[in-house]
Amino acid sequence: MYGAIEAGGTKFVCAIGSDDLEVVEKVSFPTTTPDETLMKTFDFFDRFDLKAIGVGSFGPIDLNPKSSTYGYIKNTPKLAWENFNLLGEIRKRYNVPAGWTTDVNSAALGEANKGAGCGLNNVLYLTVGTGIGGGAIVKGEILEGFSHPEMGHIQVRRHPLDHFAGLCPYHGDCLEGMASGPTIEARLRKKGDEIGQDNEVWDFLADYLAQAVFNYSMTLRPEIVILGGGVMKSPVLLSKIKKRLPEFIASYVEIPQVDHYLVHPKLGDDAGIVGGFVLAEKVLEEKRR
Ligand code: ZN
Repeated sequence: MYGAIEAGGTKFVCAIGSDDLEVVEKVSFPTTTPDETLMKTFDFFDRFDLKAIGVGSFGPIDLNPKSSTYGYIKNTPKLAWENFNLLGEIRKRYNVPAGWTTDVNSAALGEANKGAGCGLNNVLYLTVGTGIGGGAIVKGEILEGFSHPEMGHIQVRRHPLDHFAGLCPYHGDCLEGMASGPTIEARLRKKGDEIGQDNEVWDFLADYLAQAVFNYSMTLRPEIVILGGGVMKSPVLLSKIKKRLPEFIASYVEIPQVDHYLVHPKLGDDAGIVGGFVLAEKVLEEKRR
């Protein structure tokens, strides 16, 4: 049995997976204090005989194995979790190989292996919700450098009709500052599912997200770009991005046919959990080597 934890800022999902990485059992509960949340996590996993576990956590997190704070959640606005050794606590409880990455990397890994990117080696996954985050799978491995990518905080060119200042507390009008879910409410005083699909805000968001996909396409040359998260549930947004992207690429390079290149996730809400199983399987293999 593989274990997977999707440690989100608002909820924790814990699941058990079979050898072929199918979800066998799953629970979720709100993320409260570390003590209470871990108690519920352990209550769930204690009933199973785990081979390995994969954890995808909200961040920023430390994933440099040489660092003394490897496995810690870093400077999060959720203060009770700041500098909390989440991976360490899990390892202390279960003496099994444990993989550790961000929640969005884990979702990318899940979609790349068992979802919309199945069979491909280079997959980009972007989630557009309360925040914007991305994970890249390059030659089957999660792309990490000095630390994990922060694909939501890239610069975008302003849409000429959009006068919104931007919401990012660090950069103002970066991608997340201009195109995350809360920017809809900040512009219109209404949530995304309360406004019409003909509202111009969808054109603004599509423009920024197409710019982002253009930038990732030029830097990483993925085979597919999977766009998930609550904002992407808009019935018009994906098709608007598909329309804008070729205008940015301007025939400079070839990309896969746009309907195959820009897609919704296939695993839905299970992407992060399935990614956790994949991560668990990977660390177990590494340990056996
Ligand atoms: Zn930013």
